[in-house]
Formats: sequence, C-alpha cells, structure tokens
Amino acid sequence: MIIGQPVAHSLSPIFQNAALDQIGSAVRYGRQELAPEQVPAFLAACASARVAGNITLPHKELAMGCVQWTTAVAQRVGAVNTFWTEGGTLVGHNTDVAGASAALRALIGSTPAVWSELPVVMFGAGGSAAATLIALQDAGARAITIVARTPSRAAGLLERLEIDARVVAGHKAASALQDARLVINATPVGLRDDAWPVEIGLLPPRAAVLDLVYRRGETPWVRACRAAGHRAEDGLRMLVEQGAAAFECWFGVPAPRDAMWDALGIRPVAHPDPA
Ligand code: NAP
Repeated sequence: MIIGQPVAHSLSPIFQNAALDQIGSAVRYGRQELAPEQVPAFLAACASARVAGNITLPHKELAMGCVQWTTAVAQRVGAVNTFWTEGGTLVGHNTDVAGASAALRALIGSTPAVWSELPVVMFGAGGSAAATLIALQDAGARAITIVARTPSRAAGLLERLEIDARVVAGHKAASALQDARLVINATPVGLRDDAWPVEIGLLPPRAAVLDLVYRRGETPWVRACRAAGHRAEDGLRMLVEQGAAAFECWFGVPAPRDAMWDALGIRPVAHPDPA
C-alpha cells in the first residue's frame, strides 16, 4: 500500500497491482491517506500485520523515525519511501534514488568519465532533489549547480548530504545554464499548470532535460524541450523505477516492468543516441 496526504492521485496502485497480477500474487496494493500524527501508529500496525508498502509526500522524512531499521540509502537521503518487515523488524528504505538513477542513465548513460565532465544544473532543493543528488553523486557527476529560490535551503541540503556543488539564486539561472549539459527540474513547477521551470531559449543546444514532474501525456515543458531538439523526459521513469525497486525489495524477484508500463498505457521514452 501507499500512504501519504493526499494519495488519491497516486499511480502506484495501478502499476503495482499489474505487477502483482503478472507474478500471480493474490496480494493487493491499496492506498491510505493519513495525517502526519497518524503515521507512527499506522506503521507500527503495518509491522505487526507484516504489511509492506510505500510512503509518499509529506511523510517520507517523518517515516525515518517510525521504522525500526533504516538502510544506508535511506540514511543518506534522510527519507523513507519503502518499508517492509524482516524478521519482525520494520525496515525503511529509499528507492527514489534507484528511480532517479534509472532516469539519469536513460538520458546520459552510465560512463563515469562522461558524468565527471558533465555540467549539471538542477532547479529545486527539496526531497526529490536530495534523492537525485545522491543518484548524481553515485553516477560520478562532479560539476553540479543547484538553482534555488531559497539558496540557504540548498546550502543546508548539500551540507547534510556532504555533496560538493555550487548554489545559485533563482534570479541568476541564466548564467548558471550557459554551459549546462543536463538540466533537471526538481521543483513542482508544471505540476498543476502549464508553467515552464526554465525558458527553452536559455537551454544550451546540447543540453538534455529531466523533469521530475510527471503528468499524463508528459509535461508541456518536456514536450517543448523535445520539439526544440533536446533529449528530454519527465518523471514517469523515475516513478516506475522507484516502484520496481520497491517491488524487488518486497518479493525478491525481478519486477515485471513491461506489465507496469502497460498498466499506465505508456512506453518509456526511447532516446536517440547522444550527439
Ligand atoms: P519539496 O520537497 O517541496 O521541494 C520543492 C523545491 O522546489 C524546493 O526547493 C522549493 O523551493 C522549490 N520550489 C517550489 N515552488 C517553486 C517555484 N514556483 N519556483 C521555484 N522553485 C520552487 O518537493 P519535492 O518532494 O522535491 O518534489 C518536487 C516535485 O518533484 C514534485 O512536485 C513532484 O512532481 C516531483 N517528484 C517526482 C518524483 C518522481 O518519482 N518522478 C518523486 C518525487 C517528486 P523553496 O525551498 O524555496 O520552497
């Protein structure tokens, strides 16, 4: 199950139930809306009943203190999005990093020498930025700039994650973007309206684009970036891959990714080879 507030919009039950059907499991994946003060008792009850699941906004950080054991990845991010019971212990893990890694690999590949030279500019400094920063660090990225509406929040995040990156205030985005080869939106801009986090004209011609926001039919920004010739994708691969990684933690078998994508009625974006 997935717990959050709100959770009615979550796509996870759609693709997780398809995955469960695919492996012939009778287990069902539901959703539960909870206020923050309800989370500790609910997770304790999940531990007793051996229920596994996901945690979404705004409870991921809160859940760190509600599980009995956290994996090294959850500790690095400071947030739990996946839980299960192991030998009577409620385990908290974070698969957003695996989801972000999959999206980064799809756009740029996994060659450390490429990553170490790649200027990356990320907009936003919240929870999804934290998971993506760790995925960038693990990929080998060494030239990261965070453009933040609240630079002090970005600086605090980098200090907590022990990641060396530059912080630039939002009004200086244009200069930060000059050499960018990968531009990431980790803000909610474009989630509820058609706003663009970055003007297309500010993107260098060879820059790839990752929008962590996802919507049915892609975000208008991703569509506009692709129309302008950029390799671009939205946050759907990150979402499906974090779910696939969680499924593999729960069941110990490879997640049936094709069935998960089919349930959404979408195929993952296939990018042409990089120029
Ligand atoms: P969050 O923790 O609330 O952080 C949001 C960040 O965006 C903060 O740094 C915030 O700045 C900044 N921001 C908010 N509104 C802005 C605006 N109008 N202009 C510039 N910056 C703005 O949120 P989050 O958990 O990181 O999630 C961000 C988005 O990522 C979500 O809306 C969701 O769509 C997406 N997401 C996708 C996945 C996936 O699997 N694809 C997973 C998680 C999240 P301040 O610090 O100044 O408030």
